[in-house]
Amino acid sequence: MNELFDLSGKVAMVTGASRGIGKAIALGLAKAGADIVITARNSSSCDAVVAEIESLGRKSLAVSCEMSKPGDVEALVEKTCEQFGRCDVLVNNAGVAQDALPLGDMSLEFYEQIQAVNVKGPLQLATLVAKRMAQSGGGSIINIVSTAALEPAGHMGAYSASKTALRSLSRVMAEEWAPMGIRVNAIAPGLFITDMTTDLESKVPGFLDQAAENTLLKRTAQPIELVGPVIFLASEASSYMTGQTLAICGGALKT
Ligand code: NAP
Repeated sequence: MNELFDLSGKVAMVTGASRGIGKAIALGLAKAGADIVITARNSSSCDAVVAEIESLGRKSLAVSCEMSKPGDVEALVEKTCEQFGRCDVLVNNAGVAQDALPLGDMSLEFYEQIQAVNVKGPLQLATLVAKRMAQSGGGSIINIVSTAALEPAGHMGAYSASKTALRSLSRVMAEEWAPMGIRVNAIAPGLFITDMTTDLESKVPGFLDQAAENTLLKRTAQPIELVGPVIFLASEASSYMTGQTLAICGGALKT
């Protein structure tokens, strides 16, 4: 049974892995046997995660990357292939939230900035990585979206649109890249306790309690609770699954 989830000999790239959900995913994939490339803008916090991964006996590389900068994204793929020669798993996790803002108060520059990090960068990265995956016989791409991709939220227009777009692109990627042996799925997390959500709570007190109340399990989640779904989608355990969105939200969504 463990062979189904074994990632030994695989190389996985996790963006936004310096903290929060991405860090938990990077450590989880390393424990499943993969060598890990991690990225974020702040390289010193990436270095700390690399040290943790290496202490598990896996190889790891940190690459500083601003997802909205095409040159950074290209360099990330080049450095990964220089060091490891391949990339078998990509977790497009880096993303930014937004403060609550009605559409009428939102500038176009703000909208574009959110799309650049949450959609344009992940699309560029997935496209570059898919070309490499195709050369080595395939792989698995996992795009971290949000329940806002399935139920867009008022006052969260830029964020909801970005995650909806990435979910839609996940399906297009799955269709276009299936012939190359590449599976692409999205994960839609509900409310996980990270810097992103504690920052929102500090601006909108009661936000976390309300989110917990909206779930069937009556609680928010910890980043470690996304690790199982990611290992499932990264591994042979999900070999017949592509083009789907997995909602990990304590039952908050009905569909
Ligand atoms: P987080 O704690 O704020 O961590 C975000 C990570 O992304 C950090 O490593 C950050 O590092 C990196 N990052 C941010 N902006 C970046 C940029 N422009 N370029 C490159 N890296 C960047 O967030 P999280 O809560 O773990 O969220 C991770 C993903 O899950 C995001 O896509 C988010 O939208 C999604 N999500 C989260 C929740 C939740 O409840 N937490 C719910 C639904 C979806 P640097 O700042 O050093 O760059």
